[in-house]
Amino acid sequence: RAKQRGRDTFHFFDADQDRQIQVRHEQRQRFVEALAHGELCLYYQPQVNMASGEVIGVEALIRWQHPVKGLLSPACFLPIIEATPLEVDLGEWVMEQALRQLSAWQRRGMALPLSVNISPAHLLTHDFCPRLAALLKRYPEVPPSLLKLEVLESAAMHDVKLALARMTCCRALGVRFAIDDFGTGFSSLTHLRQLPVELIKIDQSFVRDMLSDADDMAIVESVIYMAKRFGRAMLAEGVESVAHAEALLALGCELAQGYGIARPMPADALCDWMAGWPSSTAWQALAGRD
Ligand code: C2E
Ligand code: MG
Ligand code: MG
Ligand code: MG
Repeated sequence: RAKQRGRDTFHFFDADQDRQIQVRHEQRQRFVEALAHGELCLYYQPQVNMASGEVIGVEALIRWQHPVKGLLSPACFLPIIEATPLEVDLGEWVMEQALRQLSAWQRRGMALPLSVNISPAHLLTHDFCPRLAALLKRYPEVPPSLLKLEVLESAAMHDVKLALARMTCCRALGVRFAIDDFGTGFSSLTHLRQLPVELIKIDQSFVRDMLSDADDMAIVESVIYMAKRFGRAMLAEGVESVAHAEALLALGCELAQGYGIARPMPADALCDWMAGWPSSTAWQALAGRD
C-alpha cells in the first residue's frame, strides 16, 4: 500500500510539474506577444543633485501596460523571462527605446543623461559591444556619453574579467557605467575599483532604514567614504523623505533618486516635472547649499 501511495504521490507531483512548465510556457508566449504588440514601455525616474537642485539624469524603468491587469512592475514579469533568450530580446528592445527617447530629447534641445538597466546575461553576450555600436550608429545625433548602463554589483563581480572586457569596449564607444544596488553583492569597492564605473548607486534597502538602523547607517556612511576615496560619484537610491536627504547631505552624498523626489513617470510627464522641481520649500532650502 505504501508503494501504491508512493507511486500516486510521484504521479501527482509529476502532473503538477507538467502544469507548472505549461504555465511558464504560456506566460512566456504572452510576453512575446506583449513585446510585439507594444504593451511594454519605459517609465523615467529623475536623478537629482540635492545640494544644487540640478536634475542630473533619469533612469529608464520597464513597465508592462497589460490590457487586463493594468500597469505591471518588472518584479511581476522579469522572473518569467529570466535565463531565457527573451531576456536579451527585452534588453535590446529597451536599448532601442532609450536611444529613441534620447534622440527625441536631443531634437528638443534637452541633453539629459539616460540610465538603462542591463541584465547580466545581456551584458555578457559575446556581441554586446558590436550591437551597441551598431545601435549608436543609427542615432548619430545622440552623444553616446548621454547613455549610462546600470550593471548590478552581483553581475559585475560574477566574472570581473569578462565584465571588465565588456565595459572597456563600451567605454571606447563613449558609453558610461554605473553600478546598481551596491552593497547587496557582498563585494568590496576594492574589487570594483578595477572597473571603469563612474557612478556607484547604493542600494535602497540601506538608505530606506538608515535613519532608524545604525548598521544600515554605518554601511551608507562607509560606502560614501570609500566611493569618495576612489574618486567615484555616489548616488543614494530610495530617498523617500527630506529627512533622508538631510542625512545624506550631511554625509557628503549629493546625488539621489527616490519617491521623495519623484516617482517613475511616463516620458511626457517628465518635462512638467522638471519645470516644477524643486517641488517644495523643504527641497528648495536643501537645494540652496551649493
Ligand atoms: P533598480 O534598477 O534598482 O531600480 C530602482 C527601483 O526602485 C525601481 O523599481 C524604482 O521604481 C524603485 N524606487 C525608486 N525610488 C524608490 C523609493 O524611494 N522607494 C522605493 N520603495 N522604491 C523606489 P522598479 O521600476 O519596480 O524596478 C525594479 C528593478 O527591475 C530595477 O531595480 C531593475 O533591477 C529592474 N529593471 C527595471 N527596468 C529594467 C529594464 O529595462 N531592464 C532590466 N534588465 N531590468 C530592469
Ligand atoms: Mg537601476
Ligand atoms: Mg537599484
Ligand atoms: Mg534594485
